[in-house]
Amino acid sequence: MKEAGGHVLRGGVWKPRTNPYSFQGDVKSLDILMEASRQTGLPVDTEVMDEEHIKLALDAGVTVLQVGARNALNYSLLRAIGRALANRTDRAVLLKRSIHMGPLSEFISAAEYIAAFGNPNIILCPRGTTPTLDGYRNHPDESITPLLKEKTWAAVVVDPSHSVGRAVYVEHCALAAIAYGADGLCIESHVNPSHGIGDDPKQAVTPDALAGIIKRGKAMWKLLHG
Ligand code: PEP
Ligand code: MN
Repeated sequence: MKEAGGHVLRGGVWKPRTNPYSFQGDVKSLDILMEASRQTGLPVDTEVMDEEHIKLALDAGVTVLQVGARNALNYSLLRAIGRALANRTDRAVLLKRSIHMGPLSEFISAAEYIAAFGNPNIILCPRGTTPTLDGYRNHPDESITPLLKEKTWAAVVVDPSHSVGRAVYVEHCALAAIAYGADGLCIESHVNPSHGIGDDPKQAVTPDALAGIIKRGKAMWKLLHG
């Protein structure tokens, strides 16, 4: 992923799954994630769902705590993250947009819950809203990027993988996000996507495809915003 041009490695140590009998993640993956960080020199991101996860992740050296779409309206969790990161400006939060959020102010208020404790390092992550299009996993929402940039201090990193849910459409959504002014992209990649045990096997792009998206994404960014 580093060779492909990635700047941060994201891996879900703990996974919020709809089905309680599906793979839930495993704390042992935290060691794997940190080893990947040491070997590549890249910072890492992982999703946290409770105070124990926050503590374990921070103690291990995770740089970016992710709040998933399902927990973006969990105010106790947002407060707990805010408290834990109050004096940790070397750490950041990737806050995904909940499909249950209505007006943009709800998304921005969720970020305020964390920022109110003093750490403004929040990355807002549009990741698609309620599915309305046959064929895409969610309804792509990268078009809110300029609004978020106008109304907040936060960086905006769009997740095209969960937005469209199909590797073949990820590049279109990624390039659209860049056109809308996104600061970054959060893309799921797997060396052998059909063997992934999280999302749909057709969602993750291969490292080669990721390299192509990053290459064309950079060219597009330069053309439009450089
Ligand atoms: C994830 O980032 O892998 C994830 C579970 O995404 P979301 O919270 O956006 O559904
Ligand atoms: Mn996922």
